[in-house]
Amino acid sequence: MDLREDLDRKDWEAICRKCGRCCYEKVDLGGGVIRYTDEPCQYLDTKTNLCKVYENRHIAEPDCISLTEHLVRTLNWLPDECAYLEYIRYKDTLTAVRGAEKKRKRGRNSKRRH
Ligand code: SF4
Repeated sequence: MDLREDLDRKDWEAICRKCGRCCYEKVDLGGGVIRYTDEPCQYLDTKTNLCKVYENRHIAEPDCISLTEHLVRTLNWLPDECAYLEYIRYKDTLTAVRGAEKKRKRGRNSKRRH
């Protein structure tokens, strides 16, 4: 998995597994609970799970958004199995592990100096 900070648009979009799940209507039940319905966006091809107007989707459907890492971290309605959420969780875990490893090495090195 590519974890560079500077993923270009092509690499970022390649993370999406094109399940089409986020393209179904959602109902906000309050209290942070979002329920997905079985109603797809009118532009979703339900056979391929691809958008029929992808390049012009923001014009065709003004509510459609382009996901960014910031949005993935802040939106509360992406399905748990979304590849972007998995990417963020993996990236954060790897960052935490690397941080702990650095801290452990620093601690070991400072003990050697005494
Ligand atoms: S739910 Fe996530 S992985 Fe699936 S189509 Fe939407 S953005 Fe892509």
